[in-house]
Amino acid sequence: MNENQSTDVATAEEVERLSGIRRLQKRIWAWPLAGVPIIFVAGSVRPEYGLVVFFVLAAFFFVLTTQHMLARCPRCQQYFNWSGGRRHKFADACVNCGLELGARSEDQARLH
Ligand SMILES: [Zn+2]
Repeated sequence: MNENQSTDVATAEEVERLSGIRRLQKRIWAWPLAGVPIIFVAGSVRPEYGLVVFFVLAAFFFVLTTQHMLARCPRCQQYFNWSGGRRHKFADACVNCGLELGARSEDQARLH
């Protein structure tokens, strides 16, 4: 890692991988928000449908949070949300090197 690198400017490849982490964060929020009404609708048809839908959605939620937990920082290659055994669920910067989730690409930075 280059110590002189700015944490709010990233290479095109880093920006792309950061947007993947942002997408995961959004899905982790959206999943329960969208899932709860679906569970209620399914449950109102038949209570056991609601239960089945709940378990299916919970399994996907588990997959999403696991992917998010294991996401690597594109710059330092460490876990983006995880340092010293502590997980930072919605870190807006890498907890290891400080690379910001909303970092601009080098091209954008040059224009401004
Ligand atoms: Zn990092």
